[in-house]
This record gives sequence, C-alpha cells and structure tokens, in this order.
Amino acid sequence: MTKKLLLTVLPICLLSFVFAQSPHLNGTVNVDLQTGQITCDFSLTNIPELGKDYQLLLNKGFNIKHIKNAKGEVIAYDGFYNGKMRGEGLAYIPKNGDKVLENPKQLEISYTGAFPIYKDDYNFTDFKGLIAFNGTTLRASEQSKWYPVIYDVKKDQLLEQVTYAITVKCNNAEQIFVNGDEPKAGPTAKFASEVPLAPLLFIGNYKVQQTSNAVFLNTAMTKAQLAVFEAEIAEMKAFYHRKLGIPYQTKNVIIEHTAVEKFNKGRIWGFASYPTIAIAGGDLGGTIDEANKKFKDSTDYPFYAHEVAHYYFGNVLQPNATLFWFFLESTAEYLSVKATEAKFGKVYSNAYFKNACNNLKNFKVVPLNKVTEMNQIGGTYRYNYGPLILRGLEQMIGEKRMFDFLKTCLKAKPKTTDYAFFRDQAMASGITEAEWNAFEKQFIDSENITALIKY
Ligand SMILES: [Zn+2]
Repeated sequence: MTKKLLLTVLPICLLSFVFAQSPHLNGTVNVDLQTGQITCDFSLTNIPELGKDYQLLLNKGFNIKHIKNAKGEVIAYDGFYNGKMRGEGLAYIPKNGDKVLENPKQLEISYTGAFPIYKDDYNFTDFKGLIAFNGTTLRASEQSKWYPVIYDVKKDQLLEQVTYAITVKCNNAEQIFVNGDEPKAGPTAKFASEVPLAPLLFIGNYKVQQTSNAVFLNTAMTKAQLAVFEAEIAEMKAFYHRKLGIPYQTKNVIIEHTAVEKFNKGRIWGFASYPTIAIAGGDLGGTIDEANKKFKDSTDYPFYAHEVAHYYFGNVLQPNATLFWFFLESTAEYLSVKATEAKFGKVYSNAYFKNACNNLKNFKVVPLNKVTEMNQIGGTYRYNYGPLILRGLEQMIGEKRMFDFLKTCLKAKPKTTDYAFFRDQAMASGITEAEWNAFEKQFIDSENITALIKY
C-alpha cells in the first residue's frame, strides 16, 4: 500500500517526448561530490526551427556565465532578472538586440550552480526533478533540467530527449553513468548517444553489477538475487511484448539510490528514464525471495511492472497535450494491473479495482472530454482513477480488443494526445461508433464511475 500511495502523491514519472529533430548536446560537465557544485560548458546544436516560439530551460539552481550564438559572440537573453519558472527550470529567451533570437539552430551556454548535500539529514520531499547529492552519489534526471532543455512554446512540449557527446569529470568518483551509454570508471569519462534519450546522470562511488539483460548500479545483490530480479523483469517484458506486439529488447539499467527524503521502512519509490529504472528506499537484494524465486513482497511486482510499462507509454508513445497524464500514467498503471493479473490471477485485479473504487468513491474528476489543461489530471486522477476508465472500456469490449486499442495507440504516428486522439485510436482499433458512444456516456461523461466498475 505504501508504494501505491506513494505513486499518488509524487509527480514521479514525468517522461520526455520524442521529436523528428532532437537537439544535440556537446561539451563538458564538472561535478564535485563534496561541494555539490556542477559546472557545464555546452553547445546545443540541431535545435529545431521553432521561430521565436521557444525557451531555454535550466534548473533554477544554476547561474549562467554567458550564452553565445553560433559565431561565438556573447548574446543577450531574457530571464536573468524577474525570470519565469517552468517546472524545475527558469525560462531563458535568447535575444538578438531587443528581439527574440529567431531559429538559433545553435547556442553555446556555460553555467554553474551548487546544490545541497543530504548526508544524514533530509528534505521534506524527493522527486524526479530534484538534483540530489548525498555525499556519495549525484542523481540528476532530465526532469531536473541539469542540462539546457528546449521548450517548444506552440506545442507546449519539452525537448528533453537529446543526442549527446559529453565529457563528465568528477574527482573522487569511481563510477560515472549517463543514461544512453554504459557506466564508466571515473574520474573522467566520455559519453555519447546517437539515439535521442534522457541523459540522466548517476555519478559517485557505487558498484556495477552486470547480467545478460541488465546493468545494476549501486546494488549489492548476490548472483542468485540478480537472477531472480532479472527473471521477474523479463517476464513483464515478455507479457507486454505478447500483448502489445512490440518487443522490449533494450538492456535495462537498474539504479538503487538513496532518496533525500526520509523513507520509513517498507516504502519504496521508483521512476523511469528509459531504459533506466531508478529505485529508492530499499535494499534491492533484500526484496528477493531466493528460495521461491520471486519478490518477497507481492506489491513489488506491479510496482516494477508499472515502470517497465513506461517503455510503451512514455517512450514508444510519447504523450503530450491535454491527456498527457492519462496517456502516460493511467495506461502504465492499467498495464501493470494486467501484467500482475497474468501472474497472480484475477484475484489480484479484482482486489485492485475493488480497493481503488472504495478509495475513490467520493473523488470527483473533470471528465476526459472536458479537460482543457494537462494538470487538471492530478496525481490521484492519473494514477488511480484513470485506470478505472480503461477498466470500463475493457468491461465493454473485452480484454483482447482492449489490447488492440492500446496497440493502435502505440502505432499511431506522433500526434497530439488529446481526447480526439483517444476516440480516433479507439475507432481505428475497430471499436464501433455505437460502442464508443455507449462507453462515453457511461465512463466519460461522469465525474465518478466507481459504481460502474465490476470486480
Ligand atoms: Zn509512472
């Protein structure tokens, strides 16, 4: 329960979006584990043509030394004074004289900042967007905006996924990992990815454990524990492949890290930056029942199945627009229920939906077809209530056609994932107009559908 509860309160899974053209990050990163200082000298190239409708987002903890244009000239920018925040970042707008610099294509940016080190003390919260030092490691995901993230104003989209070729330097660090490449020995190493993805950083003193299908960072598992863990994850991947028709072959990177928020015993927290899954709050080896070759705690299975499902809803399909949270989190959560049902039987899914319906009896939502702004789908809506809507559709059309619908969503060309997308994909997957209208009437046009869910 603690795990599920956690999913409802933290914005843990803000993943990124894919674009025909992804920015390319080139340069150097200097990290000091003792002082929490991060200094970067980057050139950002291959910036898509967004006219004047773009911003450069950088974590609010950084101070910009300067921004230069493609000719290496220092340029002006807005946001250095009385700047506007967007999530974790301050928004900067490069200028050409007193006008917005149009289609910069390339920008050079140097900056530095220092972040608190949590060593035997804590913040009130931890989340994916925090730059977290604890004296031993640094964890910084794409959501933290530790590197300059281009924001497409017109499409309301963050271009978090980048190709990169960077050098990372961190004295006293035994290991350096940049998502998209292999972990490498410190204190200095070069990293590159020609595939656009989220360059999460995990740097410090930790062990690397390799298995045939995964790399484990900062874990201390026995061979037997690693084998069980890997087999459980492989089973989830195989289930999704079978049901959704798309293989998930990439090697996972599993990071065990320490949250900068105090976690009571038994509470764990996870987030995914494909293909990395980061877990805080537990000793992963200790969660494995070696004798019975499974997780000791049966709630671990749906917990990981949710993160693994983000490969599909988060990476293969990269949601945006009004139903961003529904197509990111409600789908991943629904899939995790199906994967866990396949393992433990309908007794699991029935209990899941019964529990959800009891908890949400008095919960009121803005119906999906009336959502005008993505954050109207808050934490409880996206993680707990959204899966009930998908369950409602499953009740009407059956499980097989439900997977056909999800498959159709995954195969859709990059589109705006709004309510029209939901309807269009349903139609494209073979749901008839009469079925859709009935579904809409029952499960969409209502502020609460818990009474309609069968379990
Ligand atoms: Zn999630």
